[in-house]
Amino acid sequence: MIVIKMFDLQSYIPTDCYKTVFEIDYNKLYEQGKRLLLFDLDNTLISYREDKLSKETIDLFFNLQQRGFAVVLISNNTTSRLQTALDGYRLDYFANARKPFKKAFRKVLKSYHNITKDQIVLIGDQLMTDCLGARNFGIDVILVKSIEKSSEKWYTRINRFFERKIIKRLYKYDPVTYQKIVAIGGLNEK
Ligand SMILES: [Mg+2]
Repeated sequence: MIVIKMFDLQSYIPTDCYKTVFEIDYNKLYEQGKRLLLFDLDNTLISYREDKLSKETIDLFFNLQQRGFAVVLISNNTTSRLQTALDGYRLDYFANARKPFKKAFRKVLKSYHNITKDQIVLIGDQLMTDCLGARNFGIDVILVKSIEKSSEKWYTRINRFFERKIIKRLYKYDPVTYQKIVAIGGLNEK
């Protein structure tokens, strides 16, 4: 059964917020016991105008794996988009994930037998897909600033419309999170 708590503001609260994936305190995550990092692709790692992960991103992944994290891409975009992005770099990925639905998260959990939900963090740029999806599944989520909103397609623009409304409602509901989201540029149009 598909159950999504769309009307519950608590379902959109990120665990933490950073401007980019490079600024995340991965040591802290490791100390907290996190071992599996799920990365969203579009506007988290590359903009819609780019097709390949940068060398910096690949280096980051390599470093994270050296530190003992498992790294996986989980994207609502297509298999070919993910394969092109990885450009031969070997990394597990789940395409057509349909976040915020739970199915892809369940698949990930199934393929990592020794990992429990509290050891997983999703890192993404959208409240409506990444935050809602992670919270719906019951895992932590880090929100990063979208790389370039202006090149997003119509369906993401619809998500952004609702996202802005939710962020504004957080002003009263959870002022600390509201300030964090504003500080990384979460309400910026670009
Ligand atoms: Mg994204």
